[in-house]
Amino acid sequence: MDRQQEFVLRTIEERDVRFVRMWFTDVVGSLKSVALAPAEVEDAFEEGLGFDGSSIDGLSRISESDMLLQPDPATFQLLPWRGEVEPTSRMFCDILTPEGQPSNADPRQVLKRQLTEAANMGFTCYTHPEIEFYLLKNSELDAEGRPQPIDNGGYFDHVPDGVGQDFRRASVTTLEALGISVEFSHHETGPGQNEIDLRYADALQTADNIMTFRTVIKEMAMQKGIHATFMPKPFAEHPGSGMHTHFSLFEGDVNAFFEAGREYQLSDVARSFIAGILHHAQEMTAITNQFVNSYKRLWGGGEAPSHRSWGHNNRSALVRVPLYKPGKGQSARVEYRGIDSAANPYLAYACLLGAGLKGIREGYELEDPTEDDVWSLSTAERRASGHVPLPGSLHDALRAMEESELMAEILGEQVFNSFLANKRAEWEEYRQIITPYELDKYLGIL
Ligand code: GLU
Ligand code: MG
Ligand code: MG
Repeated sequence: MDRQQEFVLRTIEERDVRFVRMWFTDVVGSLKSVALAPAEVEDAFEEGLGFDGSSIDGLSRISESDMLLQPDPATFQLLPWRGEVEPTSRMFCDILTPEGQPSNADPRQVLKRQLTEAANMGFTCYTHPEIEFYLLKNSELDAEGRPQPIDNGGYFDHVPDGVGQDFRRASVTTLEALGISVEFSHHETGPGQNEIDLRYADALQTADNIMTFRTVIKEMAMQKGIHATFMPKPFAEHPGSGMHTHFSLFEGDVNAFFEAGREYQLSDVARSFIAGILHHAQEMTAITNQFVNSYKRLWGGGEAPSHRSWGHNNRSALVRVPLYKPGKGQSARVEYRGIDSAANPYLAYACLLGAGLKGIREGYELEDPTEDDVWSLSTAERRASGHVPLPGSLHDALRAMEESELMAEILGEQVFNSFLANKRAEWEEYRQIITPYELDKYLGIL
C-alpha cells in the first residue's frame, strides 16, 4: 500500500464515503462506471476489481472477457453533486488483463505509452483544451425538426436573464471543487453555444479532466432542467463544437517550443512537432473526429478547419501558433483546431502527440505558414500552396486511417482494429439511410 492509496482509504473513512465509483473509458470515449462499497477498495488497489470486459466496446473478445480495474489513487475525488452526507467519490482506473498486466485495449494505456515515449525523449507534454458545447431546452426537436437552443446569444454575449450564466457559474464551481481549474468560460458564437477552457495540465490529467468535464456539464444541465450536447454539429447554419487543444513540450522547467529571435519564436522542436502533426493529419482525423456528424463541421465554415495548413493568427488553419506577450516564452504552444468535442481524449491526444514526436525524431521539415484565409482560396490556389483537404467524411477518414502504419503503432493492434470495426459499422448504418435532404430534393423532380 503506498501513501496515496493510504490517503484514499483514510479519506473514505473520515468522510464516511458511501460509494466509490470506478471510472474508465471505452474505445469511442464513453465513460463507464461501477460503484464499489468502501470495504472493497483496499482489495481493488491490491488485486484489481474483476469485471466482464466482453460487453464493453473495444475492450476484449468474448474468449478473454475477465478483465481487472485498478483504481488510480491520484484521481480520487468526492463528486460534489452527490451531496455532503454519505458522499460518493470516484477514481479513474487502469484496465488490466487477468494476469495483472496493463491491457492494450485500454485507451488510458494508449496515451500513457505515448507519454512514456515523450519522457524517453526528455519531454513532458502539457495540454489545454477549449471545450465547446450547445445548451438546448431539452433533447427534443421543435416542429421543424431542429434542436431548440436555450438562448439566441452570440460570441461573448451576456444574455440578460439567461440560464447560461448560472449554468456556467455552477459548472465552473463544480469543476473547481473536483480539482479542475478553469481559465475562461463564455458564450460562443452559436445560439445556446458555450465554451469552457481548462487550465493546462499534463496530457493524461487533461484527458481525465475532459471525461469528468463532460459528466459535470451533463449533470449541471440536468439540474437546471436543460440539455447539454457535445455533438460536433447540431445546426447546419451555426458553428460546430470544436475542442481546440494547445500542446507544449517541456524539458524540465523549460518550454522546448520557444526560441527567441526565430520566426514566430518557434524552436526546431516546435517546427518538427507541427510538421509531424500536419504530415499525419489525414490519418488521424478518424480519431480526432470520430462520428458521421463530425464531418458536417469540417467543410470550411464556422471557423472550423477543412484543409491542412498552419499559421500564426489564422482561424482557418488546422494548426495555429497563438500570440503571446513578450517575455512569456514559457507559454509558447501549438493549437490543433481540427479535433471536436466528441472525441475520445485519450486516443486523440495519443495520436496528436505521437505524430508530433515522430516529426521531432525524424526531423520533419515544416512547410511555409499560411496567413491567408484558406476558405477564400480557389481549389487551384489551395493545391498550389499545398493545402491538402482533410477527409470529407467518416468513410474517407477511415480509409486514410486503415493505411496508416503510424496509427496502428500508436493505438496498438487491438484498439486500431476495434476502433475501425466500430466506425465501419457506423458508416455502413449511415450510408443506408435515405435523408430528408434526398426526399426533398429528388422525389418531386425525378
Ligand atoms: N466553433 C469553432 C470550431 O468548430 C471554433 C470557434 C473558435 O475559434 O473558438 O472549431
Ligand atoms: Mg471557441
Ligand atoms: Mg481556439
